[in-house]
Amino acid sequence: MEVLSPYKEATDVILEAGGEPLKLCYQCGLCTGTCPWNLVRSFLVRRMMHEAQIGATDFGSEDVWTCVTCRACVQRCPRGVEIIDVIRAIRRSVASLGIGVIPDALRISAKNIAGVGNPLGEAPEKRNDWAQELKVKDFAAGTDVLYFPCCVPSYDADVKVVARSTAAIFNKLGIDYGLISTEAKCCGEAIRKAGHEDTFMSLAQNNIELFSKSGVKTAVVASPHCYHTFKNEYPELGANFEVLHVSQYLASLVEQGKLKPSKKIEKKVIYADPCYLGRHNEIYDEPRSVLRSISGLELVEFIDARDQGLCCGGGGGRIWMDTPKGERFSDIRTEQALEKGADVIAVACPYCVLNYRDSVLSMGKGESIQVKDITELVAEAL
Ligand code: SF4
Repeated sequence: MEVLSPYKEATDVILEAGGEPLKLCYQCGLCTGTCPWNLVRSFLVRRMMHEAQIGATDFGSEDVWTCVTCRACVQRCPRGVEIIDVIRAIRRSVASLGIGVIPDALRISAKNIAGVGNPLGEAPEKRNDWAQELKVKDFAAGTDVLYFPCCVPSYDADVKVVARSTAAIFNKLGIDYGLISTEAKCCGEAIRKAGHEDTFMSLAQNNIELFSKSGVKTAVVASPHCYHTFKNEYPELGANFEVLHVSQYLASLVEQGKLKPSKKIEKKVIYADPCYLGRHNEIYDEPRSVLRSISGLELVEFIDARDQGLCCGGGGGRIWMDTPKGERFSDIRTEQALEKGADVIAVACPYCVLNYRDSVLSMGKGESIQVKDITELVAEAL
């Protein structure tokens, strides 16, 4: 007869919530050694795996919400453990069973997403207001491309420039594109990683039905998070459309000779790989080829660029949570960029825009360095 551990129930809860990969872990500890949190404080990934295996998970610990899902640990794990799935399963257990504590900021974002379809709590009918003066048409069947800018560039006053720059590029190049109706909702990538599976399913079903009835064949997205979930998670729920990150789309236009930035930008630019574009989806070359198409621009690299790149700190729902000064990865990255003598940190993700701009401002470095999405640089150079 099997002797049940007093904690067996906790392990079963995590396994039922999708934590099966934890069975593969043999406790080597490489994940802890790789995790970027250990640059700023202790975060013992291996211990979390062990506790989940023996039923000793502390569902009330803040460690449950710490992981930024950057995938650095998964890339290093010799057993191929999908560690993010285990973390997500622990978070799902908290969210669905009401055990443990969800951080207040995350709870508010989750409530906003479930209520009005975006984490900022903005009115759904204002989703496309950023485009009011740009003459962007509504998407209709037969339009070549749907542009989907993500909730942050749609609503955040400081990040709308990303969507506006993309529209300016598309307008100038005569791209046949449109915006989906304001019935669209958040893609749900981050809220899923934060354990809110029911909310994710509802968002995904809404968007898949809307895209399907609108006749979307190709979606170009601003955010690597939308890219990831549209490309890798929506298809198993019935989605059937091509998805391209804007860096891929612009790189293909450069390659075809259709995008030829004519104005020089004589600046030293360092590119910070977003985790969900790079490690999660192996898109490293396209953003760089777009930047290289701008004459005068000197592209420099972080010492740990591409698949070794440091996360901005915004994945896994962390973008909505407060990270204390002294623990922000984007501050470390900003220091590294300054040491390289860069004038601009170029990014290709709205979460990176938010985090790096916040770092530059809070570090008082606004005179020394700027943060720009690659679309802003291209729009300036056209
Ligand atoms: Fe377990 Fe993989 Fe971490 Fe090693 S690297 S402790 S096998 S999860």
